Amino acid sequence: MDLNLLETTLASEPAYRRRQVWEWAARGVSGYGAMTNIPAVLREKLDAEVPFSTLTVAAETRSKDGTLKVLFHTADNHPVEAVLMRYRDGRRSICVSSQSGCPLTCTFCATGQMQFRRNLSAGEILDQALHFRRIEPVDHLVFMGMGEPMLNLDAVLEAARRLPDIGITHRRTTISTVGWLPNLTRFIDEVEEPIRLALSLHAPTDALRSRIMPVNDRYPLEDVLAECRRYVELRHRKVFIEYVMLAGVNDTPEHAKELAKLLGQEAFKVNLIPYNPTGMYDGSVRDTIAVFKAVLDRSRVPATVRLTRGRDIAAACGQLAAVAS
Ligand code: SAH
Repeated sequence: MDLNLLETTLASEPAYRRRQVWEWAARGVSGYGAMTNIPAVLREKLDAEVPFSTLTVAAETRSKDGTLKVLFHTADNHPVEAVLMRYRDGRRSICVSSQSGCPLTCTFCATGQMQFRRNLSAGEILDQALHFRRIEPVDHLVFMGMGEPMLNLDAVLEAARRLPDIGITHRRTTISTVGWLPNLTRFIDEVEEPIRLALSLHAPTDALRSRIMPVNDRYPLEDVLAECRRYVELRHRKVFIEYVMLAGVNDTPEHAKELAKLLGQEAFKVNLIPYNPTGMYDGSVRDTIAVFKAVLDRSRVPATVRLTRGRDIAAACGQLAAVAS
């Protein structure tokens, strides 16, 4: 729902009307018709003037593991993908996009290979979440879909601040970033809500990180990690480190030792990500990942291996590239 359009359309109504409409939408109703405390004439006006969603569904794909990937189109026809992951313990996590495409060019990520279109509005971000909320209750959200959230921070925050209405608390909301410094700094200094932070690190040295993530030339690793440490000190909350395991590139025990030394034991929690095929690399085999994790364990750096979801439908990390499969 375009929240600005909602506001102008209801400008002559008392302010609580806007809130009522949003609260119904956030609870997962499928249209204005269900909003029983809104007068019928007003519902008709809304129907005619404020599209219930800013996004239309172009394709929906279901994985064997229950993961659901949706390709949306914006009103001006840009592709946006979002994913619902269902876990055995009942957790329902949605992965949303902050941009259509991505201007960064991380070599292992499919989104970086498609054309960058534009930043999404807060309404377009929320409509991804609301789509899934209409299917079932959801409780976790990660900004790990298409795009770099720190390049669209205002809209990302505007959306994040409304997520509790949908059932997703700030503590269960995670913004993942390559470490785009100016807005990472803003995020740390200005955001009071306990939203979690994840950093896509993927390499323990500048030389290697620059090779696989060109953005590292602009914002070197030490500067980004220093900023993350500041977040940890201010919030008393660890930063997740994402580390995609690329065979023969960043996955040796030596790399693990360097990583342990770089991160230390206090501030970070490493999430090792099995590489989801996008063409460029081979993923590390399971044993290599286990050895890498064992090195981190021995150094007492907290580490887990990410459970891969939705790989069979190209819905896994790094595979979102707006191709309906
Ligand atoms: N731009 C943000 C958020 C989107 S990516 C960021 O980079 O953090 C979400 C995560 O998926 C990132 O950690 C990203 O590096 C990782 N990723 C990208 N391509 C991948 C791939 N092919 N396999 C596994 N993870 C990948």
